[in-house]
Amino acid sequence: MARIRQADVDEVKARVNIADVIGERVALKPAGVGSMKGLCPFHDERSPSFNVRPQVGYYHCFGCGESGDVYSFLRAMDHVSFTEAVERMAARVGYTLHYEDGGAAPETTGRSRLYAANAAAAEYFRAQLMSPEAETGRRFLGERGFDAGAAAHFGVGYAPKGWSNLLDHLSAQKFSRDELVQAGLVSQGQRGVYDRFRGRLVWPIRDVTGQVIGFGARKLFDDDQGPKYLNTPETPIYKKAQVLYGLDLAKRDISRSHRVVVVEGYTDVMACHLAGCHHRDRLVRYGVRQRPHHRAPSGDGR
Ligand SMILES: [Zn+2]
Repeated sequence: MARIRQADVDEVKARVNIADVIGERVALKPAGVGSMKGLCPFHDERSPSFNVRPQVGYYHCFGCGESGDVYSFLRAMDHVSFTEAVERMAARVGYTLHYEDGGAAPETTGRSRLYAANAAAAEYFRAQLMSPEAETGRRFLGERGFDAGAAAHFGVGYAPKGWSNLLDHLSAQKFSRDELVQAGLVSQGQRGVYDRFRGRLVWPIRDVTGQVIGFGARKLFDDDQGPKYLNTPETPIYKKAQVLYGLDLAKRDISRSHRVVVVEGYTDVMACHLAGCHHRDRLVRYGVRQRPHHRAPSGDGR
């Protein structure tokens, strides 16, 4: 495994505001000078004993004793490796990491490129939703009550028909074929690589920090031989069993209300979010695309 330079590990930690990161999962309130507190995400409690001190970059729970820095928080909370925790935070603050030489593992060093490729693909798909060819896709959304605003809110896009639209677009942005294969955006065939998603509506799937890690794509045309829904395959950054579609948009409400609503499909998630706007107190906005082998991100998981 390639090691991230210690100086970078420290620098990224200094640039990240730990209260922002934890605040995305735990509702924090000011608790005296230089301190915030909230309900501990690591044990069940009714009065807050979980303290965060942003200046020191440290959290500590007086109830269960869990403590550490932003990296240990991510490791405990999201079950990521130390390296991945550092990489996520580096991506968050836009810091380029350096790896120590010797046995650089491509699946580790390439991770930030995979995030970048997914982000570029999401942008491309989103722009394509306005194209004439995407009319069928726009109609599909319209029939389900989703207007352009709703589509934009969820970043819904369109993957054009053809074998190399995305491939050409991202190649022009200097992504290598190998990176695109690893990101699951193109598939490896016998005669080269080709776009995985063709003639489909696509929903970007984001991790809890809002980074695009993959896509779910719905079939639109009868001549499409593929399955109704096609997702990104398992990649170094997209682990199906750990992903909850819509979590990035719902986490604030979840940590505020300590309630979670889980539904089945992408459009169901969208519908819940839109309905939630009118029934904010009643409906917690949340969605899932896989079976939830996942710890609820806040409190007791109800
Ligand atoms: Zn605790």
